[in-house]
Amino acid sequence: MTTTIRQIARIIEPQPVVEGAGVRLKRSIAGSALDYLDPFLLFDHFGSDNPRDYLPGFPMHPHRGIETVTYMLAGAVTHRDSLGNAGTIGAGDVQWMTAGRGIMHEEMPEPVDGRMGGFQLWVNLPARLKMTKPRYQEILSDAIPEVRRADGAVVRVIAGSVGDVCGPVTDIFAEPEYLDVTLPADASFEQPVPRGHNAFAYVFEGGGTFGDGTAALGSPKMVVLGDGDIVRAQAGANGLRFLLVSGAPLGEPIARYGPFVMNTREEILQALADLRDGTFVRR
Ligand code: FE
Repeated sequence: MTTTIRQIARIIEPQPVVEGAGVRLKRSIAGSALDYLDPFLLFDHFGSDNPRDYLPGFPMHPHRGIETVTYMLAGAVTHRDSLGNAGTIGAGDVQWMTAGRGIMHEEMPEPVDGRMGGFQLWVNLPARLKMTKPRYQEILSDAIPEVRRADGAVVRVIAGSVGDVCGPVTDIFAEPEYLDVTLPADASFEQPVPRGHNAFAYVFEGGGTFGDGTAALGSPKMVVLGDGDIVRAQAGANGLRFLLVSGAPLGEPIARYGPFVMNTREEILQALADLRDGTFVRR
């Protein structure tokens, strides 16, 4: 059987948006260029040297029908939620939250040494799990395994596996893979990704190429990869750092309204009614 290298299907230019109480961020999924990359509903890159861009934060707000994944590069986010969780995640930490039938939470960014940055990804839940019990996984940086190669490449395995190294985030329906790949100048990287899974790379430092491409990409850019068996990346002269994210598509209808993502408009109206009636969060 022949294996196929995944080629670049689309290049998405991250778009500036303002969210929460006035946070400026760059959006690549859920924007005008790319609405949905099944099962991924949203991808935001936040971070700035100017605290006014993020200090307003995300005061208490609801979610239903999705999972949200926050990965921090710098700074900190203090959070609390209706499950009773509260704490602060910092550089290298991950918060993987399954909103399921309903969660309310607050996410407030703060700088550390003047820096703040990270990513939020929304992963869709299949119809049969949309109203599942909310769940919360916090993974501190120390618990995320790193594969260090002789050539200086470093791969942080958040979800999925690289060789026989498995990431700590488990039991997620979409079988997502979430890697943070840092390549030194001119190094290359190959990773098998199951055929049929949707995959993207988010380039946020340096530049390089994907697939058999010769056109060099700079950062920040989202690269949507076509189908195939293997993702291939090649760093340019300044090295390359990117997230590689993939997952199994659900192929179900979506109805979206802000922080709620369900299958039908009726279910969205039900979420709004539950919020009004005070029955949104159930213990
Ligand atoms: Fe949120």
